[in-house]
Amino acid sequence: MIDLSIPGDQLAIVEEFQPGFGAFEEEGIVYASIPGTAKMENAVAKVENQKAVRALARGDLVYSIVRNVYDQVALLEFQSVPYRAATNTYAYMRIAHVQRGFTEHFRDVFRIGDFVRARVHEVKPLGIYLTMADADLGVVRAFCASCRHELPVTKRDLTCKNCGRRQQRKIALKTNSR
Ligand SMILES: [Zn+2]
Repeated sequence: MIDLSIPGDQLAIVEEFQPGFGAFEEEGIVYASIPGTAKMENAVAKVENQKAVRALARGDLVYSIVRNVYDQVALLEFQSVPYRAATNTYAYMRIAHVQRGFTEHFRDVFRIGDFVRARVHEVKPLGIYLTMADADLGVVRAFCASCRHELPVTKRDLTCKNCGRRQQRKIALKTNSR
């Protein structure tokens, strides 16, 4: 069985297929991390792409998890080892690039553990920098800062259904951009 998929497409559940090349697992679901042909075989879900492997470049779409937050920069971890990202597992995002306009604190846009869709802004010798300023970029899965309950990412101001805490996210608006 073959199927064309784009990054973020749900491929399988992890009980049935482990994530292989071009795929990653999050909360028991296996997703595509690169565009290409999805294949499920030998209990592995993978995505094949005939394009030549190349280094990550400005504008590439990436999915990553927020791992740490400092005053001016956040540390994010790529979800999977994309066929383009030769050696980098982590990337940075400056606070100036989380959204348009001024942002005082990262906590106004995302929290550690959130899952974000971003694009490569700069590739520098010491690291890759991401941006999620565009409307189609931002948080795609969010978890309560107090109790870790998953939040429905439908609007910017979110209230945890479990503990009632109000918080904010910069949500990725759904578009067809890839
Ligand atoms: Zn909560």
